[in-house]
Amino acid sequence: MDKLVSLAKRRGFVFQSSEIYGGLGSVWDYGPLGAELKANIKARWWRSMVHEREDIEGLDAAILMHPKVWEASGHVAGFTDPLVDCKHCKNRFRADDPAIKGTPGQPDAQCPVCGSKGTLTAPRLFNLMFKTFMGPVEEAAAQIYLRPETAQGIYVNYLNVLQSSRQRIPFGIAQIGKAFRNEITPGNFTFRTREFEQMEMQFFVKPGSDEGWFDFWREERLKWVQGLGLRPERLRLHRHGPTELAHYAKDAYDIQYEFPFGWNEFEGIHNRADFDLSRHQQFSGKKLEYLDPATNERFIPYVVETSAGADRTALAVLCDAYHEEEVAGETRVVLRLHPALAPIKVAVLPLVNKDGMPEFARRVFDDLRKHVNAFHDDSGSIGRRYRRQDEAGTPFAVTVDGQSVAEDGTVTVRSRDTLQQERVAAAQLLDYLSSRLRG
Ligand code: ATP
Repeated sequence: MDKLVSLAKRRGFVFQSSEIYGGLGSVWDYGPLGAELKANIKARWWRSMVHEREDIEGLDAAILMHPKVWEASGHVAGFTDPLVDCKHCKNRFRADDPAIKGTPGQPDAQCPVCGSKGTLTAPRLFNLMFKTFMGPVEEAAAQIYLRPETAQGIYVNYLNVLQSSRQRIPFGIAQIGKAFRNEITPGNFTFRTREFEQMEMQFFVKPGSDEGWFDFWREERLKWVQGLGLRPERLRLHRHGPTELAHYAKDAYDIQYEFPFGWNEFEGIHNRADFDLSRHQQFSGKKLEYLDPATNERFIPYVVETSAGADRTALAVLCDAYHEEEVAGETRVVLRLHPALAPIKVAVLPLVNKDGMPEFARRVFDDLRKHVNAFHDDSGSIGRRYRRQDEAGTPFAVTVDGQSVAEDGTVTVRSRDTLQQERVAAAQLLDYLSSRLRG
């Protein structure tokens, strides 16, 4: 994991937030390559969930919402972790932290950081939502929250979307957006952070058809995740047992990836039954029933949710892509990213900076960049430039050499994965690359 974190920084995938001030705990910034990678993941998700489906509409709801939303959703009362404080060193832990010895609140309990005995408080509930104030007065009545999930923005817009899009049940609403959780035990790089992005879809169905749709979406989402190129042996489904199920959930599966720190969830598929819309109907006083035009039946739709983290998906993709291998007696670090996700699709490199090669390379680069994210690099030895692109996960490198300029107008195309080089006419380059980048 340390190697990946250092590559992520070195190549500009992920930086610590506010690093020059010593960093901000568990908040991360995406650099030039990371921003491209995450944008590619989100665009692929949007395409498959919204554009390729007639029965799903997109939404972009605000982060700030009416505070009653979070009472209705259960987050004000229930989105809590039990925590204990050490009265001596002031550190705070989750009550179930395995590093704590003894029972917090009792004289035998020992602080895992300073080792003091009897200084740990009994567990107290701590809400994970970030609070802020709306308007000029910082008083309780003006308190609102940064949303801890995007789903509620979908529920409160369910009627608006239904009526404006003229959809009929079953149909879904999809959204990508930021969420905030004041996590107490964050860590493992970008796996658990306090600000993150979710890609969520809520599918509204007739009660009774929910189990079939739940199975459908579990399989669809698994297929999508497999399509990112993740190694199959590092992917698995985990069904929630009775003690894991959230109070509102009828059934739930996690899609897990085997990260270097173990198997962990990066997407969840949940059958939420009618919990959410019933609660919003109750708290808002607004009728959220659906009138089935075919049968004249009225009902509160059930919801099947697919909830993925853009950051955790990006982390799984990076972990999976990272490879070290021996090439000609040297260690090569290469990110074998799926070409559709790679931040840079093709690098254009003049072999040397003379004899017309720089001008030829510029022309090739200018042509390509109109169609794909291309990168021009003319500094350092060609071997070093190839290695930089390997670390960036760039699937193809185009080299302009003497033959290109003086003889036949062809360039070499080096494949990141096979290391094979092929000569291709510069005029055919876009077609050649397009067919290989598709996916
Ligand atoms: P966990 O048990 O790991 O806290 P969760 O079950 O609370 O996750 P959900 O509420 O189901 O997670 O959120 C759906 C998705 O949002 C997760 O699968 C994950 O990808 C992402 N996610 C949730 N919390 C975080 C976080 N703190 N940092 C990064 N991504 C997160």
